[in-house]
Amino acid sequence: MLFDDDPPPKLVGIARLAASSDLLEAKRQVEYLELETRRFIGRGSGRMRSIYTVNPYRGCEFGCKYCYARYAHEFMELRDPELFERKIYAKQFRPIAFRNELRRLKFGDTVWIGTATDPYQPAERRFNVTHRMLEAFADQRGLDLGLTTKSDLVARDAPLLARIARQNRIRVHVTITTLDERLARLLEPLAPRPELRLGAVRTLSQTGIPVSVLAHPVMPLINDSEASLDQVCEAAARHGATSFSAAPLFLKPCAQRVFLPFLERSFPHLVRRYRERFEKSAYLKGHYPEMITQRVEKIRARHNLERRREPESTAPPLEDEQLVLFSPQVLYIVK
Ligand code: SF4
Repeated sequence: MLFDDDPPPKLVGIARLAASSDLLEAKRQVEYLELETRRFIGRGSGRMRSIYTVNPYRGCEFGCKYCYARYAHEFMELRDPELFERKIYAKQFRPIAFRNELRRLKFGDTVWIGTATDPYQPAERRFNVTHRMLEAFADQRGLDLGLTTKSDLVARDAPLLARIARQNRIRVHVTITTLDERLARLLEPLAPRPELRLGAVRTLSQTGIPVSVLAHPVMPLINDSEASLDQVCEAAARHGATSFSAAPLFLKPCAQRVFLPFLERSFPHLVRRYRERFEKSAYLKGHYPEMITQRVEKIRARHNLERRREPESTAPPLEDEQLVLFSPQVLYIVK
């Protein structure tokens, strides 16, 4: 813990670059900054070493209460987990450097866009980094691309994604945790309404782009009822999604520092149980995850939606420039 008399930490690497970023604009409580980036394409580690990752932004204004990626700001010495949603860094895009990195990828390589922040968060409307990166991807061939978002802004890029799909495999994952607008507003305060996200699912699927709907994270006694998950899955199928999945919440310490106070305010009757479950481990174990898996399989079969199998890993591999996080059961790409 830092005290007033402590010397300021010596900033190195990404933290030094973050500290020297020019403030472009302060809008309400959100600061938008540009961040110099040495590398745009990161890489998983351990068994996921073969996966490449791209995150056009650092921080995410959507401010989901369960967000697992908040500690990405800790690499920049930004210790307050709420700064993740208030200090948004757009990577300074250098098209030639990005294309040079793309050229090093091989036919068949897998690239995930938006593993640690949402590529279509509000900052994209002004910085357009995601769009410019996708334009470069459109000139590539033979890549296996995945993009995860919680924003209907992705529909803006449907023609560009379709162009990419002509020479590559691409799948868009749209996260919808509930159809209950009020609950969504509590959990994901600045993310577009579920109805808008479903509209994006329809637009993309009508353009011929495969879309998965992810109901991650499933939160005990909040959005885990069969009725709630079934509603999301049914709506996903009706709007043209080709797969559906859902996996239980995990809460790393950094996420707990936001999620548990949120529970105290909005779901005080659940606080004790959540504390008991998560104080020993970030992951729910035992009967609950098995029960959710079975529930989701039943619902998926009911609506004839496959589950797209993702590589499994028990290790949470990390890298400093790009993040890929995993739950024990599935690749966890919550946006
Ligand atoms: S959209 Fe994703 S990255 Fe953004 S706050 Fe929500 S969970 Fe975190």
